[in-house]
Amino acid sequence: MAADTVFGKIVSGEIPAEILVETDRVIAFPDIAPQAPVHVLVIPKTSEYANVTELAAGDPELLSEMVAVAKQIADERANGEYRLIFNNGESAGQTVFHVHAHVLAGNLEERSLGGS
Ligand code: 5GP
Repeated sequence: MAADTVFGKIVSGEIPAEILVETDRVIAFPDIAPQAPVHVLVIPKTSEYANVTELAAGDPELLSEMVAVAKQIADERANGEYRLIFNNGESAGQTVFHVHAHVLAGNLEERSLGGS
């Protein structure tokens, strides 16, 4: 079980966020410190999974739903193309231990993360 995090507080409404997409099990909201023209976080409502490794093992359908929401964000806010990042562990840059996908889109100029 992931510890109570800032994202758990966004799910409960304790910390405000602009909810862009909401399904039964997933929400999406803008990152507070955007790194791209479109930078949205997609998270499950459950705090059960700290990272994508745990989520993929425990509930692959929920992971799949997060990817579908990421695609919806890219369709609605860019041209449908997007970069999806999951940081896993502190040394990989993870700071919030409630699994989340970073959806980056819109003329990404930074090429080090897989761009050509
Ligand atoms: P990580 O570094 O764990 O992969 O990503 C955590 C992300 O959460 C960071 O990009 C950070 O800007 C974002 N973040 C942290 N606190 C808040 C918050 O209270 N609201 C929103 N919308 N984003 C947050």
